[in-house]
Formats: sequence, structure tokens, C-alpha cells
Amino acid sequence: MNEKLAAAKSEKLAAVKGMNDILPPDSARWEWLEDKVRSLMGRYAYRNIRTPIVEPTALFVRGTGETTDIVEKEMYSFEDKLNGEPLTLRPENTPGVVRAAIQHNLTYDGGKRLYYMGPMFRHERPQRGRYRQFYQLGAEALGFAGPEVDAELMLLVHDLFAHLGLRNVRVELNSLGVPAERQAHRAALITYFEQHSELLDAEAQRRLHTNPLRILDTKNPALQALVQGAPQLLSYLGEGSLKHFDSVKALLSACGVSWSVNPRLVRGLDYYSHTVFEFLTDELGAQGALCGGGRYDGLFELLGGKPTPAVGWGMGLERVLELIKEQGQTQTEQTPDAYAVIPDAAALPRCMQVMQALRGAGVSVQMHAGAAEALGSMKSQFKKADSSGARYALIFGADELAQNSVTVKALRDGSGAQQSRSLADIAAWAATLQSTTSTFAGQTCSAGPN
Ligand code: ATP
Ligand code: MG
Repeated sequence: MNEKLAAAKSEKLAAVKGMNDILPPDSARWEWLEDKVRSLMGRYAYRNIRTPIVEPTALFVRGTGETTDIVEKEMYSFEDKLNGEPLTLRPENTPGVVRAAIQHNLTYDGGKRLYYMGPMFRHERPQRGRYRQFYQLGAEALGFAGPEVDAELMLLVHDLFAHLGLRNVRVELNSLGVPAERQAHRAALITYFEQHSELLDAEAQRRLHTNPLRILDTKNPALQALVQGAPQLLSYLGEGSLKHFDSVKALLSACGVSWSVNPRLVRGLDYYSHTVFEFLTDELGAQGALCGGGRYDGLFELLGGKPTPAVGWGMGLERVLELIKEQGQTQTEQTPDAYAVIPDAAALPRCMQVMQALRGAGVSVQMHAGAAEALGSMKSQFKKADSSGARYALIFGADELAQNSVTVKALRDGSGAQQSRSLADIAAWAATLQSTTSTFAGQTCSAGPN
């Protein structure tokens, strides 16, 4: 047995560092967010795709790029115990989606619009907004070459943020042109950085001949002035690339999305061409990137498929939820409509039938559950009913059941009012138990877009 495993035998086990449990009531915020996402994706006619969490390591080495942070240092990789196959927990999902599209020939009859939501894994230093397991929402449009789909994808993010009530999110854009234009720019960049090589840090030195574009992406403050003065890719774009970029910008403006061009926005990934973009906030400190994406017309071929234009984005859902919190949207607990108080276990079969009928009518009912030998005193059951947050107690006493009825007691309005309700006609009164407010109280559920 592995030494660490042996030592851990008697220790209390905790989740892996940087990987979080999402517990109630916080999980209600996640469900709320996921519901918003699904409904909006439907309106833009994007369909769900689910690919495996584990993929061959080669998929990311090729698809994400050998010189990216992700492949250089962030992947959780291991060998399959049986056949030694190198495997990796997905650090992002675009390569997986493209692999699946090639494998199943998804674009044989035209373009496809897809979205996914799920956990990604990166071995980074955990801090607020940066985790080792985190959730990404992503959208990919496969098989479309025109600028309108780039604009549509960004509009989708803009619209989602509006539906979530987020404010002050900036959109930055750039164009990476086509490979020949990038080559010319790359040569100019290398010359420029070579002229100033004494100013480069070790990482930039290393990248100078592998991926000089990535030097523009540096987070080292000492390099900012140097990077500011570097040749800009935008001035190497030809007519076709400029036209594509101009159309994207015009379509965004026409749809009310404000944007600004950031000539240094290069993204960490190698397979991008034409449009790249980021949605950013200043309200989450250093982890201000909420969503990043762009066009990756070269990726299908790189992964062994037919040339297929494609564009997409990935969004960090923890950061989105952090920002919602930061901007003051509050959350209420999920509470049941009713709590079933059951004085005698002999009544359980009938009680459970009634609860099933109520749930069938849309009422949320929490059943009292007790110890092995007894359900507990009325007093302790009412205490539990109270702490459950339910607005009503349903009291299934022997007398009530003998008359085929149940007592409904108001728990929250201060009246303590009790009413006897007939079990012969549950549908007639079930709706009076139902709460009208949603489980997550932002600006969201009662008014405004949803
Ligand atoms: P960053 O510069 O913050 O490391 P990135 O360029 O690595 O971001 P992408 O690979 O484009 O990010 O992933 C898309 C989105 O996923 C990011 O904009 C961010 O919101 C989120 N994200 C990336 N890495 C993490 C992480 N370790 N924890 C939480 N969210 C993350
Ligand atoms: Mg990163």
C-alpha cells in the first residue's frame, strides 16, 4: 500500500485541497443557475452534449497545446492500471467536444450548436475564484465559418449575465487572424523581444522561441511596459481577417453589447484564429475572467478530423456565483411547504399515501422520520417541523385519520390556525399549501426576465 494511504487509514478524511463540496443551502444557488442556463440555451437552440471526464492525455497535449499553462503544469494525469494508457482528468472541454464531433461525425449534415456544463480539473494554487475542481459552462458552434456565429455566442453570454442580474461586466475582443498573419506577427515579436532580451524573465525567455505570443499574456508586472510596446497582431491582419472582425463588432453593437478591443488579448490556447474574447469583472480581484473564448478553425484538423470551422467559449461558474453574491443578491433557504407530524407509527402507511398524493399535486412535503424504535413525542416532532422552515404542519393523529381527514396547522403566520382537511379530496386544498415564492430570492424569480 502507498505510504500516504497507510498513514491516512486512521485520519479523518477530507476533500482534496482545492476541490469543494457544494452543500445545501448553497447548492440551491447552483440549481437556480443551471435552470437559467438550460432555459436560455434552449432559446438560442443550443443542444446539450456530455463527454467523459477522463480522456486520453494526448487529446489535451494536441488540442490544448503543449506550450500552454494547462498542459505544462496543470493537468491531473495518470496511467490506466491495466494497460498503462496515459489518461487525464479534463482541464477543459473543448477538445473533448471536438473529439466527440469527429468520432461521431456530428457535422456531416451541417453545423451544430452545443453546450455543456460540468467539472474541470486543473492543478493550480487554490485561492478565491481558482480551484482544482471547478465547474465550467461552455458553448461551441461547430461547422460555421461566418462572423455571425461569433457574435451570437457572445450575445448568449451577455444575455445570460443579464438574466442572472449581473452588472459591470466588460467585454474585450481581439482578432488573431489566420495562421499566415500570425506567423508574420510571430517573427516580428521574436525580433522585438530578442532586442530586449535582457528585460525578459525566465518564463518569457523560455517562451521566446516556443510560443512568443504567450509572452503578451504574462502576469509579471515588470514586463508590462515591454509588452505594451510590442508589435500588435492587429496590424498584421489582412483584408479578410479585418472584415470578419469588423462584422463581429458591428453585429455586437447592433444587439446592444458594448465591447472594447484589447490588442493584447491572446488567450492561453494555441488553436484559436480570428475572434478571441473575454468577459471580465473588476469586482473579484485577480480572478476577474468570467468567460473566455474564441474561434478555433484549426482544431478539428489538429485532432485528425476534416477541416471544420468552429467557435466557442468557457465560463467559470464559481466566479459567476461569487460575483452574484458580491453584487448583493441574497439567497433564502429551500424550505418544504409542509411537515408531516405522525404521532403513531401505525399511521405511516396511510400518511405516506397522502404525502405521495400531495407531492403529486406539486406540494413539497417533508416527512417526520424518527429513531429506530419510535417516531418521537409530539413536542419533539413540532420542534423539527419548526426548524424545517415549513409553513404548515400536517398532523396525522389517530382521531383525524379515523374521520379520513388531516389537521393543517399554520406555523409561520403567528396565528397557529388549524383546519381540518378531507383526505377524500386532497386536490381541492393541496394548492393552498404551496408556496408562491421561489427558492432563490435574487431579483430573479418574481419579476424581470427569467
Ligand atoms: P485564468 O487566466 O483566470 O487562469 P484561463 O485563461 O485559464 O483563466 P480558460 O481556460 O479560458 O481560463 O477557462 C474559462 C473560464 O474558466 C475562465 O474565464 C474562468 O472563469 C474559469 N476558470 C479557469 N480556471 C479556473 C480555476 N482554476 N478555478 C475556477 N475557475 C476557473
Ligand atoms: Mg488559467
